[in-house]
Formats: sequence, structure tokens, C-alpha cells
Amino acid sequence: MDKEFLHKEEMLSRDELENLQLKRLKQTIAQAKQSLFYWDKLKDIEPEDIKDIEDIKKLPFTTKDDLRNNYPVGLLTEPVAKMVRLHVSSGTTGTPTAVLYTQKDLDIWADLVARCMYMVGIRPWDIFQNISGYGLFTGGLGIHYGAERLGCLTIPAGAGNSKRQIKLLKDFRVSAIHIIPSYALHLSTVFEELGEDPKSLHLKIALIGAEPHSEETRRRIEEIYGIRAYNSYGLSEMNGPGVAFECKEQNGMHIWEDAYVVEIIDPNTLQPVEDGQIGELVLTTLTREGMPLIRYRTKDLTSILPGGCKCGRVHKRIDRITGRSDDMIILKGVNIYPMQVEKVLMSIPEVGQNYLIILEKQGYIDQMRVKVEVKDEFFVEDMRELKKLQQKIARKLREEILITPKVELVEHKSIPRGEGKAIRVVDNR
Ligand code: ADP
Ligand code: ZN
Repeated sequence: MDKEFLHKEEMLSRDELENLQLKRLKQTIAQAKQSLFYWDKLKDIEPEDIKDIEDIKKLPFTTKDDLRNNYPVGLLTEPVAKMVRLHVSSGTTGTPTAVLYTQKDLDIWADLVARCMYMVGIRPWDIFQNISGYGLFTGGLGIHYGAERLGCLTIPAGAGNSKRQIKLLKDFRVSAIHIIPSYALHLSTVFEELGEDPKSLHLKIALIGAEPHSEETRRRIEEIYGIRAYNSYGLSEMNGPGVAFECKEQNGMHIWEDAYVVEIIDPNTLQPVEDGQIGELVLTTLTREGMPLIRYRTKDLTSILPGGCKCGRVHKRIDRITGRSDDMIILKGVNIYPMQVEKVLMSIPEVGQNYLIILEKQGYIDQMRVKVEVKDEFFVEDMRELKKLQQKIARKLREEILITPKVELVEHKSIPRGEGKAIRVVDNR
């Protein structure tokens, strides 16, 4: 194997890795205290108080609100003049938060992303198309610099303009892509429209992430394009992509623990939960210079997968993200995650590539309506057939979410789709 990208950190034993974490955590605390925010927040803690990595529990949490309240530069540990890049989170759940990077931060980030790409089999001779919004969103430049760092010919295709995406994929015999899963499904409908088969491309690998998606969606993407698709997790507060990534086993995402400390907590009690239990992901940066974050509450829900990975890496694995804690829908007293709906829909062959959950009032009663695109070949004239399909979808959804939603079947491509992360829920209540 190409040694350059098999970082020594990837081959460490658990003890060696934890020693490295301890050393870096102490450095991070010292570094963080250079910022106004942590100077105050960590006033009772010195790096020497941390004797082993478990002592991280002595440190306070950092929240999204802390970032918002200290916007734009209150968490910087170095003068603004030393920063060379700024990103802003997509603002999916409110006011955006800004993240600034020094040159060293960018170099380390590119390395982390290159490592992820190498892990799933991408090599310098691959042609890589980054189908992702460039700009403030970290999925563009973040993946871009990682791909260049690995040595791939990197096509900064950006988001949208599906026909041009397809032309680039064909003209340059692209072998690997980065794409948001909902857009990968949408793009397949454009292939269909053009009468072309996505399987005829040279494509082998897709990195899919930036939004929650189910195993069923991954399988769909793999089948449609005849490729392997790997889940990629990151958030701008932790650099962006490259935080956790699936290996070839496709069984959970390894967190690069030489760069991040991972914890899962109960969001109510703030106490750690056992491996295997779902809770809120909390991350601490270990190699960030300009804007280190300590025990950052991501609001993303997942669990640590117990046991080792067949690939041999000792870096812990997290399960795919169920959603954000604020994504939870409470309907008639039942808690539902949009991901549960997606899982069911994507396992039904007649269902097309897009759907939308609408929450509304019917009289005084809250009600869920699920708009479901149906594939052309199943969108038949025969009302009885459609009725049967509608009932089948409603029944399968009920088995999963315990309430019966209204199912509205719509034609292929009739639910509008933006260029970024898909909007899955509209709350009209
Ligand atoms: P925003 O939080 O405004 O969307 P980011 O662009 O930083 O801003 O997005 C990070 C968030 O995107 C994560 O906290 C998580 O909720 C979601 N996300 C990123 N990658 C994945 C993934 N592979 N699976 C599920 N959710 C993901
Ligand atoms: Zn693995």
C-alpha cells in the first residue's frame, strides 16, 4: 500500500492512540485558553489536571449557542490576521456559525480528508468529480483540497446543473465522486430523462454524506450507478468533512481519534451512555489551532458501535446518524425521525427518488401527510393499482412509525429539489 497516506496514526494500538490523545488534549486546552471564550470557560482547569483521557469529563461542554453568542471571532486563539479561511455552517437549524482556519488547520484537514478517500480505495490516478456546493459550505473546498492532497485530478463541478454534471462524468471518465445522497438520486432521474444508463459511466466509488440518509438509500445509489457508496460525516465546527468515514467494511464510520475525542451522551442527563446506545455525539478537536472546540455538542444522534472493525483500524466507529435531536417530530405523542420514513420508502421498489413529509392540522388534530414520488413505470392509469400502492406504503410506514400517515402519490420529479441538503419536513401546524 502507498505508505504516504496510511498515516502512522491509523496503525496505532489502542494504548498508543489514547496516549497521543492525552498529549494532544492537554495541548488543546492550553491552546483554547488563548481565546477569550475559553480563557473564561476553562478558568478552573489547567492542562495538568488531565491525567488520562477519561478526565475529559471534567471539562465543560461547548454548544452551538456558545458559537452564536461569540460570533464572529470570539473563539479564535490567534489574531484574525493569522487566519486564512472562513466557513459558515449551512444554517440548517438557525443562525449560522462561523469557523475560521489557520494554514496549519487547512493542511491537517486536507490530510484527514485524503486519508478517508484513500481508505475507501481512491488513488492518485482516479478522476474525482466534486459534485458539491463550493463556497461557505465545507463540503466543496474541504473535499476538494483532500482530493488534490491525495493527487487525484479534481473537478470542482459544484452543485446543480445536472446535464453538465453528466457531461463531465462522461467526458473525463470520472471514477470517483462526492455527492449529497438526495442529489445522487435526483441525478439518476436526469440520466433517465436523457435515456442514458448511469451504469455505463466509469464510476466506481461515491462519497455520500452531509445529510442523514438510510442504508436503503445507500443501496439504491449503489444499484443505480453500479458502484460502492461510502458514508461521509463531518460538520463545519469540526473542520467539515473528514471527521468520520466508512471503511470498505461499510459497517459504521471510523472517527479519526488522533484528531477528535468522541463521546456519546444522554442529551437530557448529559451523562455518557454505553457503547451501542443512541445519544448525542460530542466531539473535541485535538489538532485544531485557530479555533479548537472542547466537548462540542453536535446535536447529532448516533451510537458507538461496540467491538473492533474487520479492517483492523482501532479508531472507534459510529453508526449512521439517525438525525439531529431537533429533527424529531412529535405527532400524537409519538416520536418520529424523518429517517424512519425514508428507510421505509426507499425499500419500496415502486417509490421514486424523492419524498416530502408535511405536518398539518386537520381540524384540531395533527396529521402527517407523506408526498411520495412514484416511478414512471408504476404511475399507471389504473386507479385500483395506485390505491393498492398507496395502502401498501401507508401500512409499511405504520409498522415503522406507529401512526398511519396520509400517503399522497405524485408523479416522478414533481417535488421540487434545491441544490443543497434536501428539506424533508415541512411543518404547517
Ligand atoms: P449545518 O449544521 O448548518 O447543516 P454543516 O454544513 O456544518 O452545517 O453540516 C453539518 C451537519 O450535517 C452535521 O452536524 C449533521 O447533522 C449533518 N451531516 C453531515 N454529514 C452527515 C452524514 N454522513 N449523515 C448524516 N448527517 C450528516
Ligand atoms: Zn474499518
